[in-house]
Amino acid sequence: MKNKKKEIVEIEIPSRSLRVRHAMCPNKHSLMDEEHLINGYPSITVLAKYGDKEGLIHLDPVYGSFTNIYEIDLQEGECVELFCPTCRVSLSEHGQICDECLAPMFAIYLPHGGMIDACLRVGCHHHMLRFTDSEEIARRLLDTDESNDIF
Ligand SMILES: [Zn+2]
Ligand SMILES: [Zn+2]
Repeated sequence: MKNKKKEIVEIEIPSRSLRVRHAMCPNKHSLMDEEHLINGYPSITVLAKYGDKEGLIHLDPVYGSFTNIYEIDLQEGECVELFCPTCRVSLSEHGQICDECLAPMFAIYLPHGGMIDACLRVGCHHHMLRFTDSEEIARRLLDTDESNDIF
């Protein structure tokens, strides 16, 4: 990474106004699942492991909403590991720690350098949206007509 000086830009959006439409694993497999809809929208499906249990979790694609569907039996407070269901690459984000409960975080990738980081502890809803290609995104956010295809 180039050691560029960074500015932090804070964006406030109405709660639940963003829906993820193009989530990917680090190897660019789509995680979108047309067969498991949540509130009528394709969910984001990931493979979860906890101990010797393994199963899919369908994540609510609406940012900030947590109507997730679990096909694995998990207890509140447990930390899971998540993987891409296609290539089984780990979605863990090394070095990222949840600000609220200190658990590890995972990341899913969006087009145009966007990422959603979220906590791996079941029941902790800490999450954030980041953009690694910030120049591109700043350009798009300032051009409101185009801001809809970021996610
Ligand atoms: Zn994959
Ligand atoms: Zn947490």
